[in-house]
Amino acid sequence: MSDLVFPQLTRRQATLTLLAMLGPTQLCRSDDSNKPEAAAAPLHQIMLRDASGTERCVAGRILLTAADGGLLVEDRAGRLWSVTPEQLLSDDTPGDFFSPLSVEELGRGWMDELQAVGGFGTLTTTVSDHYVVVSDTGQPLVDWTVAMLERLHDAFRAFWSQQGFETHDPEFPLPVVILRSREQFAKLAGHDRTPASSQGQGYFLVTANRTTLVDLTAGEAASTAGTLGEVRRLVGRNSASVTTVVHEATHQIAFNCGMHRRYADNPIWLTEGIAMYFETPDLNSRRGWRTIGRVNRNRLNQFREFATKRRQPDSLQTLLDSNARFAQAETAIDAYSEAWALTHFLIKTKPREFNAYLLKIAAKPLLQWDQPEQRLSDFKDAFGDLPETDRAMQQYLRRLG
Ligand SMILES: [Zn+2]
Repeated sequence: MSDLVFPQLTRRQATLTLLAMLGPTQLCRSDDSNKPEAAAAPLHQIMLRDASGTERCVAGRILLTAADGGLLVEDRAGRLWSVTPEQLLSDDTPGDFFSPLSVEELGRGWMDELQAVGGFGTLTTTVSDHYVVVSDTGQPLVDWTVAMLERLHDAFRAFWSQQGFETHDPEFPLPVVILRSREQFAKLAGHDRTPASSQGQGYFLVTANRTTLVDLTAGEAASTAGTLGEVRRLVGRNSASVTTVVHEATHQIAFNCGMHRRYADNPIWLTEGIAMYFETPDLNSRRGWRTIGRVNRNRLNQFREFATKRRQPDSLQTLLDSNARFAQAETAIDAYSEAWALTHFLIKTKPREFNAYLLKIAAKPLLQWDQPEQRLSDFKDAFGDLPETDRAMQQYLRRLG
């Protein structure tokens, strides 16, 4: 049920099993990659045979080499590839250093990928300071979305800086795909091997580092707004959908600015809690984002109803020690509300401890999944005993009115 899409790995698989990898179009080029500022990692050109039997070339840096010779590779677009020894055909180092693609290269790469999937309208690429948006919908909606994303990015970074948690600029341009047709949105979700994601308005795909959105101004007939004014008018009527855009975009920023580490063990309550802390849109500011941390009425009401009718005495423990409650449709909405409540409570009342906890989680090793006991002890080390935290959280929430 999570909109944040990781391929699900069991602990046993953590020594680099084949992940559900994405489709075609990996750029394999060494030009323009010899930039001294990227000197830390050598560029590898890896030939592999993917799950469908297709040979492909991935140019990237190696993040991890498993004992069995398998590789975790991050390509120049910021996509992650898990390569088993059986899939690995060759691994060459041409002598260049790794560097991220430029915004233009990244836009071209995603354009090619979408064209290979097929069926989209005329695709355009729009770039901004931190984003590359590939879209087949109207330019006014794209421009409105880009302006909002940049505003959110800046507000996110400024907020955490004020909190005493330093983030950094995204290393890669952040790709966003906006599609005018829900049918094509579903087709791309299928291509991404996450078909259930097409139920919502958008998703962030961790392997591809990409946010995908459906045009939130489109109705049944997939029409698109013709002017910026029309976009604002339609968006104003559809604030629940804007919340989704903000939520997904927050995931993308958090995974790219040093807060979370892709393919390490991030508790879902934490990644979702952060996204929900930011998700109330601020559509009125031209520069700032004044709704960060505002009490999220939907989540609070849901939590209160849950607390009255269904919440078990060990609820905090089961929220923390695994991601299971987020995976089931019957329990996910309550789990989200509890994750919002906990995150809100901790950021507001224990900011220093929360920062220390974020740092600890961000330093977790790649592709190693903690046992429930470890999850619980990380939390207790940061915030103290669970019964006391639970009691203080409930008391705090009662005072929210
Ligand atoms: Zn989410």
